[in-house]
Amino acid sequence: MKSRRCCKFAELETRLFRCTDCNREFRLQAWKAVCPSCGRHYTLVPVEERVKGPSPAYAYASALAILASATYLSLSGTQNPLIVLVPSVVGAALVLTRSRGGHLAAVLVSAVLAVMLGLPLAFIPVAGAALAVYDEYRITRYKLVRQRLKGSGMKYVEA
Ligand SMILES: [Zn+2]
Repeated sequence: MKSRRCCKFAELETRLFRCTDCNREFRLQAWKAVCPSCGRHYTLVPVEERVKGPSPAYAYASALAILASATYLSLSGTQNPLIVLVPSVVGAALVLTRSRGGHLAAVLVSAVLAVMLGLPLAFIPVAGAALAVYDEYRITRYKLVRQRLKGSGMKYVEA
């Protein structure tokens, strides 16, 4: 049996209820007879959870940072443009798949670009790598939330 005591997802120990009288929504651990807001009795009804998938904004920003770094390196003439551009375009395309492997590829390409650029411009690919890691974290978290909702038999809608 899986442990349900994980503090990270403590918020999921609660369920969403709405008062049919005052229309306010509450997160409660269990159904209550009295509305915490208006004090009416037997007005709370469970509400479907809305689970929103993480937006692709961070993946796009990561791809942009990779492409900007690669473009700068190619134009600066210090590196062979083909050696810089081909892996960078591949890395940028992979991060947009938003898979674990894609995020990893983006981090690796960003690390190489950071070394090639040197300070102070290395912060651009480093930021790109950080954005890829953050996108991976958000997707992993979203999958865990979805899994838990499914496992607990809670109704939910994907927004
Ligand atoms: Zn109420």
